[in-house]
Parts: sequence; structure tokens; C-alpha cells
Amino acid sequence: MHPTRITATPERLLREEVLALHAYHVPPGNGMVKLDAMENPYPLPPQLRDEIARLVADAAINRYPDASALCLKEKIRTVSGLAQDTGLLLGNGSDEIIQLLALALAKPGATLLSVEPSFVMYKMIAAFAGMQYIGVPLAEDFALDISAMLSAIECHQPALVFLAYPNNPSGNLFDAEDIEQLILAAPGLVVVDEAYYSFASASFLPMLARYPNLLVMRTFSKLGMAGLRLGFLAGSPAWLAQLEKLRLPYNIGVLTQLVAEKLLQHHDVLLRQAEQIKQDRTWLYERLVGTVDVRAYPSEANFILFHVAHAGKVFEGLKQRGVLIKNMNGAHTALAGCLRVTVGTPEENELFIRALQESIHQSKNDI
Ligand code: PMP
Repeated sequence: MHPTRITATPERLLREEVLALHAYHVPPGNGMVKLDAMENPYPLPPQLRDEIARLVADAAINRYPDASALCLKEKIRTVSGLAQDTGLLLGNGSDEIIQLLALALAKPGATLLSVEPSFVMYKMIAAFAGMQYIGVPLAEDFALDISAMLSAIECHQPALVFLAYPNNPSGNLFDAEDIEQLILAAPGLVVVDEAYYSFASASFLPMLARYPNLLVMRTFSKLGMAGLRLGFLAGSPAWLAQLEKLRLPYNIGVLTQLVAEKLLQHHDVLLRQAEQIKQDRTWLYERLVGTVDVRAYPSEANFILFHVAHAGKVFEGLKQRGVLIKNMNGAHTALAGCLRVTVGTPEENELFIRALQESIHQSKNDI
């Protein structure tokens, strides 16, 4: 057949929302001091790496994984303190769980509501699933604007509300009583996304028993397993049993199950690393606050958002010096002049601060 007779073009066939999307951009980080993606910077102790090597060598990768991931789920229940009567669903990263929730609730005209600025995947995934998206602006200090939230809930009757706790990219925890008010007012599900729970001083897991429309989502990515892709959703078994129907049967691979189980057996190692990251967050915050022309926001996560004059130039200056952070300038009006840095090792943090000071100095001289 002659190629010109083929009418199947992306423009003609794809949904308008898909054509209008921009792919989630992940810049290459090869050879850079990588402080852009909230990863745990620490390798595993050699003995644990050897144990993992043996596990992987013996893994039955010719077989499909355990579709229900029973052993792994038991480990997750133990380390997270989840009761046996709490529903639990695993995702290939928590990204996948956001997508699953949106797919499940995307009745025609259904709304997904979140705050702005927050994690961009809520909005993107609403578009993937064909849900209407409402982003309620946060207050100037990135706190919840509770009256704006309550009226948006009243007006749009969202089937699904996402709140990142702590919030990405601002790093703060919203007021817990405000969140409880929203859970009570919401006509649908409220998902508290605790991606950064390892570095935070509060959690909504204990609230699950109180609110049947509350679900808590977590990921192990920031605790040191970003490469394994593993997240979970916990909440009322009635909800979780329905959502489970949308989970693809083998979404958690053989190697992820084996290695994550092993790592959760050694949870203490990961918790010590998280503790170190929290201490270094304090060091980094103080250095940022002490840097001329920088305004840093307090953080309960493993990253810090900061404002700096000439943010674009400073970001490029850092890159030229081999340090990759995240440029938030332009992502949202509330983030004008903002950059976000992940807490690295003490050496990486020092390198970053030095490169930042040089880049700020250079950005002033360039003008
Ligand atoms: N939620 C929030 C708030 C995040 O910041 C991220 C990662 N940046 C995720 C969810 C997704 O994490 P993952 O897919 O690695 O589990």
C-alpha cells in the first residue's frame, strides 16, 4: 500500500487532552552532582549489597512475579505499622497509584482537585484519565487557603482530592486540622500523599480509622528505592478492594519484590540514612538562609525550596559548575524566582553551596 494513503496520524486520532500535554521532562544527570530528584544519595552497606546480589542471582525471572506480592505486603504492614484490617494496594511507584485512582473515578465530568503549586503529576494524570482538574492556589506562605478550598469543594464536588503532605515543591506540612476539615467536607476521596513521610514530623496514617473517605499514599522512592519503583495506598478495605480491580496483575516485578523485601528487613539502615538527611537538611537550610539574596522556605522533606534573584541564571551557573538542581521558576506564578535543591551527602551539599554562591556572584556581574 502507498504510504500517502495512510490516514492514521497522531493529530487525527489522539485525544485533544493528550495532544495538549507536554511530556514530563527529566533532564540528563550523567556526571553531575544530582540534587534535582529527591533521591537518597547514599549507597547500601557492602554486606547488604552482596545479599541482594545473591538474591537477584537466584531469582526466577523466567516466571511472573507473585501477583498479590503477599510477602512484600506483610513487610510493608510491619514497617509502616498498618493494622491487618487496613486495605493495602501496591503500585509501580506512587505515580502509578495516582493514575489508578484517576482511572477508577473518571466518570464523565468527574473532578480531581488539588492545590497549586504542588506535584505536577496530579494535573497531568487528571488529563490522562479525562478528569476535570481544579488547582486551588495556596496562600502566599504555601499554607492551605482553607476558605478557598472549602468553597472549591462545595462548588466542584470533586470525586478525588490530592494533598501532598509534606507538599512538593514547597516542603511544608499543611495544618492537620485544616486537612481534617477538608476530609469532612469532601464528597469523595481525599488522598494524603506522604511521599516524603521519612523526613516529616507528622502523618495521617493514624487517621485512617477515623475517616472512611481518607486514603494515605506513600512511596519508598525517597527512602532509597527510587530505582525499584514501589509505592502503596492504604485505607478502608471497601475502597481498596474496588481499586484493586484496576491494578495490572504483575505491576510489581520479581526483582522489586525480592529486593524491597530484603531492604525492608533492614529498614533500620534506611531509617539511619533518612535521619542523616534530616540533620543535613538543617545544615543546608542554615547555609541557604545565610546566603545573601536567598530566601529559603523551611522544609519537612528531603529538599528545600528557595528564592533567589536571577533564578534562571543562577540555575544555569550551577549547571556549568556540575550541580543539577530543579528550576521551578516559570512552573507557577507563586514559584517565580524559585529553585529546589534535594538534600545530598554533606560533601554534595557543601559543593552546592559553594557553586550557588559563585553563581549568584556571577549572575550579578553579568547584568
Ligand atoms: N508524590 C509526590 C508528592 C512526589 O513528589 C512524587 C515524586 N516526585 C511522587 C508522588 C511519585 O513518586 P514515585 O512515583 O517515585 O513513587
